[in-house]
Amino acid sequence: MTASAASVPATPEQTTDAEKQELEAQILDAIDRWVEREVRPIAREFDQADRYPAELVEQMKELGLFGATISTEYGGLGLSASTYAKVVSRICEVWMAPTGIFNSHLIMANCVERAGTEAQKAHYLPKFATGELRGGIGLTEPNAGTDLQRIRTTARRDGDGYVINGTKTWITNGIQGNCLAVLVKTDPTAEPPHKGMSMFLCEKGPGFTVGKKLKKLGYRAIDSAELVFEDFRVTEDHLIGGEEGRGFQQAAGGLELGRINVAARGAGMARGAMKLAVAYAKERETFGKPIAQHQAIQLKIADMSTRAEAAKLLVEEAARKFDTGQRCDLEAGRAKLFASEAAVSNATDAMRVFGGYSYSTEYEIERFYRDAPLMCIGEGTNEIQRIIIAKQLVAQS
Ligand SMILES: Cc1cc2nc3c(=O)[nH]c(=O)nc-3n(C[C@H](O)[C@H](O)[C@H](O)COP(=O)(O)OP(=O)(O)OC[C@H]3O[C@@H](n4cnc5c(N)ncnc54)[C@H](O)[C@@H]3O)c2cc1C
Repeated sequence: MTASAASVPATPEQTTDAEKQELEAQILDAIDRWVEREVRPIAREFDQADRYPAELVEQMKELGLFGATISTEYGGLGLSASTYAKVVSRICEVWMAPTGIFNSHLIMANCVERAGTEAQKAHYLPKFATGELRGGIGLTEPNAGTDLQRIRTTARRDGDGYVINGTKTWITNGIQGNCLAVLVKTDPTAEPPHKGMSMFLCEKGPGFTVGKKLKKLGYRAIDSAELVFEDFRVTEDHLIGGEEGRGFQQAAGGLELGRINVAARGAGMARGAMKLAVAYAKERETFGKPIAQHQAIQLKIADMSTRAEAAKLLVEEAARKFDTGQRCDLEAGRAKLFASEAAVSNATDAMRVFGGYSYSTEYEIERFYRDAPLMCIGEGTNEIQRIIIAKQLVAQS
């Protein structure tokens, strides 16, 4: 594999709509070329071997993906959520897992850009944008995922800093990353508990170790890890925003963009599975004609296409609203819910179209079938999305 990633142009602050569209077309073109040249040829092999795609990571740095949504003033590409979602979808049409390498990282960066002190923004964001520092977010613990107020990791005040103790699990980029935004309790006795929660930027060092690499059904080649903090010391300037008690809101504040990310992944996978199924249905013949000409197969193709397109439109709507600066948890929740379920349904329908070959690791479709369900879990499970959507609608009516 050669390092041939074309660089993606940054988005200047002042641009007309026509210039923005032109720029977006250039960006997507660069991504499409990279995906075809570098991602598609290795996807099956790296997924099956659960091997980290280190060369892709170097190319992502060249493309600027580690700074995709970071403002240009800090060295990022300054992409809107709308353009970023399209980038993510294009990659996921072929292989979802590599987007996890920069998605989680950008949620950490977004947290710093939104809630960090000026000193934290100046120090971290340029390093995040180049990928010199990269990682993700550490919220989940063995006993607490959805119910984050039950986490047990603590940061105890000690001199001019804090001492962190606890265990995080399922952390994307936990092994290959070198910096993570970690949710802790600075006041474990606070009531309600979220008032005693804070986020710290933790760079790997003594006391911050990887417990184990987790084995997974899908989303392979990307590291998911348990992380252990044992008397891990940080100075107080690692506390995001410089004030205790804001961690829960800071974590929740990243969820809108996070959900748009996951929705974009789902929409891309829904389309990717459909494309694989259509191509196969045109090639495979039974009873003297391509199976694409059998009505039973056509019905599946129509359903897959409709789901993929609806998912794409919901993602676009949520991203557009996010870009206006308006609250969009309803739209992001709907997009995440629908697009992730569309990915699962399309992967399942595509498996039917492939018949026995769907079960072979020689074909790409089985990877979609293993990868898609994760989209229903990450960034708030789909059960929780439904609750958020319903609560918003009831409150509005
Ligand atoms: C591959 C992978 C990567 C991940 N990456 C990260 C990461 O980078 N960082 C990170 O912090 N976490 C990460 N996670 C963790 C993920 O965010 C959690 O798994 C998720 O939030 C769900 O938490 P849980 O697994 O503890 O499930 P639980 O919270 O135990 O939920 C179990 C079930 O109960 C349902 N449920 C829970 N509460 C309610 C309720 N009030 N009403 C109705 N239903 C409810 C849930 O929807 C679910 O169906 C990752 C997980 C995976 C599998």
